[in-house]
Amino acid sequence: MSTEPNCIFCKIAAGAIPSRKVYEDDELFVFHDIAPWAPVHFLMVPKLHIASMAQVGSEHEALLGRMMALAPRLALEQGCKPYPEGGFRMVVNTGAEGGQEVHHLHVHVMGGPRPWLRG
Ligand code: 5GP
Ligand code: ZN
Repeated sequence: MSTEPNCIFCKIAAGAIPSRKVYEDDELFVFHDIAPWAPVHFLMVPKLHIASMAQVGSEHEALLGRMMALAPRLALEQGCKPYPEGGFRMVVNTGAEGGQEVHHLHVHVMGGPRPWLRG
């Protein structure tokens, strides 16, 4: 598994920096955002260090597919109400103009009753 020694999300995924874990398997790590925008706000990351969506290629199709397919189950487990009344939002900020602050690919999953702090 390729990781970056100075990457905060690599460290979180390895358990070297504490987080509130939601889910973990061989390839994925999911944890609560430290500054949530919404009543439910967690981040899904691959354990493999990928800097952003801009670095994603066909070799990552299965990995990203697994992340996308896992999100609905975790959203419900974390308290999002079912679709269509409930639901959730998935966001992947990419690059400076895309609003990305942490350069390890992550999917934000946000949900829960409104109003939200942002968004
Ligand atoms: P970005 O703007 O890169 O899409 O989002 C980065 C997210 O990571 C932000 O929502 C921020 O609150 C969250 N974050 C940054 N550092 C940490 C941390 O050390 N622990 C956790 N749990 N979340 C973090
Ligand atoms: Zn990383």
